[in-house]
Amino acid sequence: MHDKSLKQIAEDLAAKRVSSVEMTQYYLDRIDKYSALNAFITVDPEFSLTQARQADRRIEQGDRPSLIGVPIAHKDIFCTKGMLTTCGSRILSNFVSPYDAHVIGKLNHHGAVILGKTNMDEFAMGSSNETSYYGPVKNPWDETTVPGGSSGGSAAATTARLTPAATGTDTGGSIRQPAALCGVTGFKPSYGVVSRYGMVAFASSLDQGGPITRSAEDAALLLNVIAGFDPRDSTSVEQPESDFTADLSAPIEGLKIGLPRQYFGEGLDGEVDGAVRDALAEYEKLGARLIEVDLPNSALCVPCYYVLAPSEASSNLSRFDGVRYGYRAEDYDDLIDMYQKTRAEGFGSEVKRRIMIGTYALSAGYYDAYYLQAQKLRRLIAEDFARAFESCDVLMGPTTPTTAFALGEKTSDPISMYLNDIYTISVNLAGLPGISIPAGFDRSERPIGLHIVGQYLQDHRVLKVAHRFQQETDWHRRTPPGFD
Ligand code: GLN
Repeated sequence: MHDKSLKQIAEDLAAKRVSSVEMTQYYLDRIDKYSALNAFITVDPEFSLTQARQADRRIEQGDRPSLIGVPIAHKDIFCTKGMLTTCGSRILSNFVSPYDAHVIGKLNHHGAVILGKTNMDEFAMGSSNETSYYGPVKNPWDETTVPGGSSGGSAAATTARLTPAATGTDTGGSIRQPAALCGVTGFKPSYGVVSRYGMVAFASSLDQGGPITRSAEDAALLLNVIAGFDPRDSTSVEQPESDFTADLSAPIEGLKIGLPRQYFGEGLDGEVDGAVRDALAEYEKLGARLIEVDLPNSALCVPCYYVLAPSEASSNLSRFDGVRYGYRAEDYDDLIDMYQKTRAEGFGSEVKRRIMIGTYALSAGYYDAYYLQAQKLRRLIAEDFARAFESCDVLMGPTTPTTAFALGEKTSDPISMYLNDIYTISVNLAGLPGISIPAGFDRSERPIGLHIVGQYLQDHRVLKVAHRFQQETDWHRRTPPGFD
């Protein structure tokens, strides 16, 4: 059962070959069986089975929207009415949202069942899932290594077949990087395509929700449901509804693939480089042309991001004060003491580091030197992409410089952790769509991801280009040993 695609599962359910209760129970059992992965923060079988029963009733009544009865796991950053939403933090350890995020509401409407909430780096800050208050997630391909982050639980659960698909969010790479490290498909839509309503805010000008699936086709299916204009998010893009699954198999002959010079240089692991080059050769066989392009400001992406993202985070996270919701320190003298103790006890060290950096960068004396400067840089980075796209249709390169690294290997060195997102961060700064798809393994059987980036709002084209590759290769069908 767990080897079927999202599309097949949806078809089986709609045709009543299996009930949603059976399907949901099947995955709940797998989640339980492989709980040592720590991929989930919250699993509530009664909640999920109640939804599954409702879906079965809808099927009985002939009401069969596209994802009717399909269980889907959600990154614990999406607010779910009636189920905990912790965002990987102690400060939200008791938080039950009174409303559903837009993404959750849309999926409910289309009949999907919430299978549980997946583990993640605290407030989505991290690249290894090790900043989670709920402990690290293990990579199913090698349990001594990290699954990537911050959507590490979603990627690990998808590759281990604990869920047919999952949601994630990507502020600087958090959908694509864990997808690469876990050997699944992770798609970050163009900024504004998926509403951020009810998605706990990290860096609002960069945050974007999207699917983590086993194929680009499944990603398109999920995107069809979660994309679309939402007046509750002022940055939501208003555009005519499109079918992301349409024409996925259309030939890509003549496609011009840009290879950013800067993505194939120093720091890139040889085996990752080799797998990416093999993937590019596959595209050439399909009739694509490779063109070298330049993204001259690439080296400045990480520093630019680590001024802007913490600045926005310091502002967004000011709402967690122990007054309105979430955790509150038990012993305190007065209001100020309560704020201080609540935040000191409620946030982990990476979140505190970001709040301090952000507060500093936004302070009156340093605003011009850091925040404003980073904003100008962001513009230059976006312009680099615009220029590169004058000569090509999509960009390709590695998603990450290396394959999965050992648990604990980078926790004491934030800079080396930050460099994991060196190829993904710029895409968020420019608001573009990007996908990571499985493209091979290294000598230790750790997955390698190919990164495909498209022009703004050309999400469909990115999915198409990814799908064509997946029709010719089977990297995305591999299951980690012990989970088949
Ligand atoms: N790893 C990056 C960070 O720590 C990106 C995280 C994300 O995309 N949410 O900020």
